[in-house]
Amino acid sequence: MARIVMKFGGTSVANLERIRHVAGLVAEEAKGGNEVAVVVSAMSGETNRLVALVDALDADSDKGAAIEDEYDSIVASGEQVTSGLLAIALRRRGLKARSWLGWQIPLRTDMAHSKARIGEIESSAIGPSMAAGNIAVVAGFQGVNVEGRISTLGRGGSDTSAVALAVALKADRCDIYTDVDGIYTTDPRIAKDARRLNRIAFEEMLELASLGAKVLQTRSVELAMNYNLPIRVLTSMADVGDHNPGTLVCHEDETMEERVVSGVAYSRDEAQITLLRLKDAPGMVAKVCRAMSEANVIVDMIVQGISRSDNSANLTFTVGKRDLDKALSALKTAQGEIGFEGIKSDSDVTKVSVVGIGMRSHTGVAQTMFEALAERNINVEVIATSEIKISVLIDSEYTELAVRALHSAFDLHTTPAPKVSAP
Ligand code: ASP
Ligand code: MG
Repeated sequence: MARIVMKFGGTSVANLERIRHVAGLVAEEAKGGNEVAVVVSAMSGETNRLVALVDALDADSDKGAAIEDEYDSIVASGEQVTSGLLAIALRRRGLKARSWLGWQIPLRTDMAHSKARIGEIESSAIGPSMAAGNIAVVAGFQGVNVEGRISTLGRGGSDTSAVALAVALKADRCDIYTDVDGIYTTDPRIAKDARRLNRIAFEEMLELASLGAKVLQTRSVELAMNYNLPIRVLTSMADVGDHNPGTLVCHEDETMEERVVSGVAYSRDEAQITLLRLKDAPGMVAKVCRAMSEANVIVDMIVQGISRSDNSANLTFTVGKRDLDKALSALKTAQGEIGFEGIKSDSDVTKVSVVGIGMRSHTGVAQTMFEALAERNINVEVIATSEIKISVLIDSEYTELAVRALHSAFDLHTTPAPKVSAP
C-alpha cells in the first residue's frame, strides 16, 4: 500500500469526458488500498478567461486601489469547479472522494497575492480522511494567507501545489499528468527526431523549466529538488492500464544514462537592449541594473564591449519581451544620470540553450555548440553560461535552424549508453 499524489493539468480536465477519463486513472491507482490525493488545475482556458475578466474591469481606471486580493479570489475559482467535478466523477464510479479547497486543508501561504509562496500544509484533516479511504481531490494553484484571504501561486502553480502536498503527506510518489508523454530532448514540433528522456536530473529540469520548456512550473522543480522528491511527468491521454513510463525527474545520482548534454531549449520571450557609448568606468553597469530593478524588470544575459580608443563601452542585455517598453522608458528617464549616448532595442530575438549536468566534467561543449551554429551561418549576439548550461541569443528567424543543428550536433536523437560507475 502506498500514498500517491496525482496531478492533472488543464487539458487533462478540459471537459467532462476528460474528467471521466481522469477518474478512471485515479480509480486504477486507488485499487488495492493505495491512499490517493489528486491535485487538479482549472479546465484549460478557464484561468485565462477569468484573468481577462479581471483585466477588463481593472482597465476602467488607473486610479483605483490595488485589486490583487480579489484577483486571487476570482482566478482560484476555476480549480474549485474541477475539484468538485472530479470528486463527483469518482463517486459515480463507486469510490469515496471529496474535494478540498486551499483554505479547507489549509494550505497556508505568504501575503504575496497572485504569486504567493507556500508556507505550510496542514495534514491533520486531509491525512486521516485519506487513511479512512477517501480520495482527496485538491484544488491546485490556491491557498490561504494569514488574513484568511484566498491566495494563488502564480500561473502554472498547481504543479507546485502537487509537489508541496506530496512532501507534506510524505507521499511515495508524485505523478504529474499532462498532455505530453514526458520531457523531450527538445521541442518535438521543431526536431522530429526529439526523444523522450527516461530520466532527467532536477538541476537540468530546472534549467529547462526556466528556459521556456513549459511542462513544469519552475518553483515545483525547486521544491522537489530541495526535498529530493522524484516527480514523474506522464500523459493523461493514455488508456487506463497502459504502460506509461513518462520521464522521472530525480536526483542526478539516479539518472541512468551517460551523456554530456541532455536537452536543447529555446525561449522567444526575449528582448535585447543596447546602450551606446556608456562611459567605461566603475559602477556604470551597477547604475543600469539599479534602474532596471527599480522598474521591476529582470535582467538576464549581459555583455559589454569596450572601445579602448575613447574609453566608452556598449552594454547589451536582455529582458523579458513583456518588459521591454517598461525597461526602455526607465532607461530614457535615467539617461542623464547614467550617462550614455543612445539606446537600441530588438525584440525579434530568441535565446537557445543547451543543458546538461555532464558539462561539469566534460570539455568541448562550447566548441561543438559554436561550430554547429557557425556552420549554419547563425550569428550569436549574446552568450551566457552556467555550470550546466550555455545560452546564446540569436535572431528569431533562425530559431528552428539553431535548435535542429544543436540537437543533432549533440546526438540527442540517439539513445545514450548506460552510465558506468567508476571502479
Ligand atoms: N490554472 C492555473 C493556470 O492556468 C494553475 C495551473 O494550471 O497550474 O495558471
Ligand atoms: Mg501546467
